[in-house]
Amino acid sequence: MGRGDLVVVSACLLGRPVRYDGEFKGDPLIMELAKYVEVLPVCPETGIGLPSPRPRVFLWKDPRGEIRVIQEGTKKDLTPQLEEFCRKFLEKLKGRVKAFVLKSKSPSCSPTPTTKTYEDLEGEKLIGRYQGILGKMALELYPDVPILDENKLKGGEGRALLQLLFPSAIPDTLLQYFEAW
Ligand code: SF4
Repeated sequence: MGRGDLVVVSACLLGRPVRYDGEFKGDPLIMELAKYVEVLPVCPETGIGLPSPRPRVFLWKDPRGEIRVIQEGTKKDLTPQLEEFCRKFLEKLKGRVKAFVLKSKSPSCSPTPTTKTYEDLEGEKLIGRYQGILGKMALELYPDVPILDENKLKGGEGRALLQLLFPSAIPDTLLQYFEAW
């Protein structure tokens, strides 16, 4: 699978008003990165038509052991809609994507097993942490592409990614974030 120039980023990390709580969650490093590379924002939840703000969603491990995305309050299972959106979105990226930076702890986005997962439909009994739908699918479809959450971006994996994106010289305005940590 070829590597293109796009860096796919969870839209909330770019400061877009897409979160369930309507809050700003822009990440300064990622917003700075977007000044230098071609960024493609994505938000699976608003992508399936949910508004912002909206009821929170959470991961539920069903009795068969499958991980589902449930909307708080309504208990609606949004998994089929989110899977369809993410599959279509990811398939369109073939040959065009160089990296992903996706939101940790998100039922819809996280590529790392950081998302709280519950064994009940009330979202009260925590049983572990799993990946979100987009992150999990991206890892399956693009095994050769760097896929980080925003916290990994701030460690060694982030430095490696910046070296990949800027083979001749990493801009100082990006390096300064690493020096600050
Ligand atoms: S974590 Fe993903 S689904 Fe949630 S607001 Fe951010 S981009 Fe949207």
